[in-house]
Amino acid sequence: MPAASYDCTRCGACCFNPPENVAEGFVGYIEVEPRDSLRRRPELLARYVREHEGTLHLRLLADGRCMALSGSAGRKVSCRIYHVRPSPCRRVSAGSELCQRYRREQGVAQAR
Ligand code: SF4
Ligand code: SF4
Repeated sequence: MPAASYDCTRCGACCFNPPENVAEGFVGYIEVEPRDSLRRRPELLARYVREHEGTLHLRLLADGRCMALSGSAGRKVSCRIYHVRPSPCRRVSAGSELCQRYRREQGVAQAR
């Protein structure tokens, strides 16, 4: 399946805390790694990042979505901090097994 058929702007599934984390009570989903440029943006850190168990993570809303995700998952989404999004956000490639798992978990239809 070509990655081009997975349109991230109509998805956003990997921007939600996965069910296995929720089940175990983990609220730290995406870590902001030491070299991430987001670390050097104090105004964005204050808004979108929190410390959890000694490390920095993206803040999540009550429904598990990353606070930086705008729009409606599975329909139309965008990342408010796209150009400085943390490293883990960049590691999920569209169409990969992980991507497909996230889409299944969040009820986003599989690409055709
Ligand atoms: S789950 Fe896949 S298609 Fe959806 S936003 Fe993430 S990488 Fe893109
Ligand atoms: S920072 Fe952007 S790409 Fe990363 S989880 Fe949040 S909304 Fe998604």
